Amino acid sequence: ADTDDVHEYAAKLGFEKVSEQVIDECKSAAVLYKHKKTGAEVMSVANDDENKVFGIVFRTPPKNSTGIPHILEHSVLCGSRKYPLKEPFVELLKGSLHTFLNAFTYPDRTCYPVASTNTKVTPIILVTYLLLSFIQHHLL
Ligand SMILES: [Zn+2]
Repeated sequence: ADTDDVHEYAAKLGFEKVSEQVIDECKSAAVLYKHKKTGAEVMSVANDDENKVFGIVFRTPPKNSTGIPHILEHSVLCGSRKYPLKEPFVELLKGSLHTFLNAFTYPDRTCYPVASTNTKVTPIILVTYLLLSFIQHHLL
């Protein structure tokens, strides 16, 4: 899509452009958007890489040293009573259509990244990941 179309679409969804930058090292154009109502930030990085990459990141600063954010990251990837697929992450991993799929817990945040060259399948993994990561966020 044309860059103007993307900005217009983002505005329609309630996002405003915060900043824009060309990153020479990876021949990419980065745009940071902020959702006006929720404050959620979305960064779009456009380049000619055949991989379509999506990642959602939550601030998960721990209240103590029991490792709860990391335990929850693994737990949501194992399904739940409400979402009774036994191991959604393992099911996703079985698919051969993604080029990268993982989850990471850092000291202050948790990331759920996915990459695929197949633009049709990426949204499916993406929605699954959004659901799983929001469940974790809700549990914290
Ligand atoms: Zn882990």
